[in-house]
Amino acid sequence: MIKELVHDPIFLARVSEPADIGDVQTALDLVDTITAHKDSCVGMAANMIGVLKRIIVFDNGGGFEVMFNPEIIKCSEPFDTAEGCLSLLGDPRPVKRFRSIKVKFQNMELKPRIKTYSGFAAQIIQHEIDHCNGILI
Ligand SMILES: [Zn+2]
Repeated sequence: MIKELVHDPIFLARVSEPADIGDVQTALDLVDTITAHKDSCVGMAANMIGVLKRIIVFDNGGGFEVMFNPEIIKCSEPFDTAEGCLSLLGDPRPVKRFRSIKVKFQNMELKPRIKTYSGFAAQIIQHEIDHCNGILI
């Protein structure tokens, strides 16, 4: 189901709780909601649709990929960039990211996975994990 986007900075600054199998519907709602915003949005975290659980969805360059409880376990090649956010108004803001990251997460079936991402997908994942930690750019 497509959900309303949250813009309240106080809500968005709260740290999200671990997600489990009971949160699969939230993940499906995230995919529906990002699909509805795909012209302007490449990633979304569950708190952006009002659910304080650690679930993200991002454009992996062909389709949307969902991660439960993503954790960056290795990162390399820092760089400075600027990012916008659907939950924030205004111009892109400066931020430091890593070009390559190794991420530990669970997939939609809650199976554990470890994958390495680079380039734009890696940047989106970092932005969305920040959302899970209540960090806004
Ligand atoms: Zn954002």
